[in-house]
Amino acid sequence: MLITLDDAVQIVMSKVKLLPHEAIGLDDALGRVLARPVKADRDLPPADLSAMDGYAIRAEDLAPEQTRLKVIGESAAGRKPAFRVRRGEAARIYTGALLPSGADTVVMVEQCVEENGVVVIAGPVKPYSMLFRRAENASRKDVLIPAGEALRSPSIGTCAAVGASPVRVYRHPATAILCTGEELRAVEDAVKPHETRNSNGPMLQAALREWGFSCKRRVVADRLSDITRTLRRLAGENDVLIVTGGVSKGRYDFVREAVERIGGRIQFHGVSMKPGKPQLFATLKGGRLIFALPGNPLSAMTGLHELVLPAMRRMVGYEPERCRPVLQAILQRPLANHGDRLRMVLARVKFDGARLAAEPVGVQSSGDVVACAKANGAIILPCETELDAGALAEFHPWTPELF
Ligand code: AMP
Ligand code: MG
Repeated sequence: MLITLDDAVQIVMSKVKLLPHEAIGLDDALGRVLARPVKADRDLPPADLSAMDGYAIRAEDLAPEQTRLKVIGESAAGRKPAFRVRRGEAARIYTGALLPSGADTVVMVEQCVEENGVVVIAGPVKPYSMLFRRAENASRKDVLIPAGEALRSPSIGTCAAVGASPVRVYRHPATAILCTGEELRAVEDAVKPHETRNSNGPMLQAALREWGFSCKRRVVADRLSDITRTLRRLAGENDVLIVTGGVSKGRYDFVREAVERIGGRIQFHGVSMKPGKPQLFATLKGGRLIFALPGNPLSAMTGLHELVLPAMRRMVGYEPERCRPVLQAILQRPLANHGDRLRMVLARVKFDGARLAAEPVGVQSSGDVVACAKANGAIILPCETELDAGALAEFHPWTPELF
């Protein structure tokens, strides 16, 4: 019995458990989701600092016309000034340098002329200005990045500034892709007409990588004993198993039986979608997940993006609503689905001004790897839908660039 894609997603997500968290050095934390908030370890800025190159002075010394002050030293970034600015005195100061005690204002260098140890300040000066004030950005112990947020380069910078390394992030799942098929040959191999280069392996691995996940890859021929043995071994070493091929009803489709033999509980087998109908999802003890995707490349890709990646994103800490990216794009051509299964229409979207425009990609069959290269995601077309050109359609991106 086929279930709907929505039900399939719901079943998958109900079986997913967040992985435990771990401490990881900041240099390896890009893309990882925080399990604990990052807090300021000190005030930011930690003291009053100069925002300009110029002179540190006391506002009370400012005269209405022209101010003349004795230069008694300088304060540069990275050095602690060992003097105090008293009445009638000034100190050279540079951007990011500590404001010397006694001073309360910085005058930018463009308004100053220094000669024989005296600085002459001309033009209007705003008292207490040109400063980065202590704690104006954050106070010690303030939460700067909440838990649940994925670390990107700007937030890595914030972590670094407050000494947050290692950070506590959710562990990533150990993951394996197992491609099944007697016909499969490696990319580098010569192929005869009855043989197929294993394109699913590299494609799915690359897709995982694009979304920040790593995995290992194996290939096995269509023999129940071999598939079972390989699956059992991989299940012992991984949190997520992604199998391709051998999951339909053919004479050489052994994956379901192999999954059952290693103790997998089948949660569903068959989703009402096109391409990608024979998707299988099973669970193993300890929260391990097995996804068996049809071997046809487009079916495998739809399964990966609709079911596998959302589960993996949840495991590593993304909020549920952030696990399955959905965009709205303007159709460039009319589309209709009069079939009895939800259709995934391969499309390429691009930004048209501030909006996304979706151009469906012509596809011959679910084995059309040529079409694959033209698409960057799929339009979701429910049954009994007719959409005109210019209508908004739901688009599921296959690349994080769009998201
Ligand atoms: P299957 O799901 O095993 O019935 O395979 C369906 C179709 O997908 C067949 O034409 C297979 O040759 C093809 N196929 C299966 N696995 C792969 C793979 N790893 N790379 C490319 N094509 C594949
Ligand atoms: Mg096969």
